[in-house]
Amino acid sequence: MLHNCARSTGPAPGGGFEGDIILQTDFRGVANIGQATRWTSGQVPYDWSAVTGSYHTQLKHPKTNISIIYCCFHPFIDKKDRDSIKAAMDQIVRDTSVNNKACVGFRPKTAADKNFITIRYGTGCSAANWSGSKFVTLQKNGCFSKGTIMHELIHVLGFWHEHTSPDRDAYVSINYGNIAASNTHNFNKRTTGQTENLGLGYDYSSLMHYGSTAFSTNGKPTIVVKKAGATIGQRGGLSATDVKKIRKYYGCK
Ligand SMILES: [Zn+2]
Repeated sequence: MLHNCARSTGPAPGGGFEGDIILQTDFRGVANIGQATRWTSGQVPYDWSAVTGSYHTQLKHPKTNISIIYCCFHPFIDKKDRDSIKAAMDQIVRDTSVNNKACVGFRPKTAADKNFITIRYGTGCSAANWSGSKFVTLQKNGCFSKGTIMHELIHVLGFWHEHTSPDRDAYVSINYGNIAASNTHNFNKRTTGQTENLGLGYDYSSLMHYGSTAFSTNGKPTIVVKKAGATIGQRGGLSATDVKKIRKYYGCK
């Protein structure tokens, strides 16, 4: 099952994608059901070896005709992107810690890890699964704002998009007339069998909520809030309820 991480219409520090760009993801502020989707002890091993700015140049020596491979490592590019990912990870860990004790964490994978995420460059911003050797894909230009990376990592921790909550119809209405048929699946509700009711309610301010014009074909709203004054689609960081949901999902008190 694929879902798309539409760019929100809210603040997106450092840039982001427009809602009409397809951002592949296979994910879930609505908690996915079952212990199997939780990372053991809340720890997410990651492999980010593909996030580099390095390239190789092969030249032949003019006299000997022997190939020489120059590997030109670009420490600044490499470091900048990894720094962005690390900053997003650290922010999640800080925000969800309870009494200075980490609730969830991210660490480099070891050879012993069977379940881990692989972070790589690609097209769009996506998170492909929450267990197993799955990919988090971040397009070089557009997916490296802290809030966007955090959004993908919250998928990794086990959460669907907020507007797909089984009870969403009480809080938002979806204007299918403004959505291309090929994109309507991004607005499908999850079932109560797929999601856990954490008892914390619908959260308009979730980092995992789409913006009001996500996947709009004409610039008109695709999601309309039913509560006057509610705003949706922020990508600044975790909402207070996002934090509570993550803590509850991972049993952190
Ligand atoms: Zn998403």
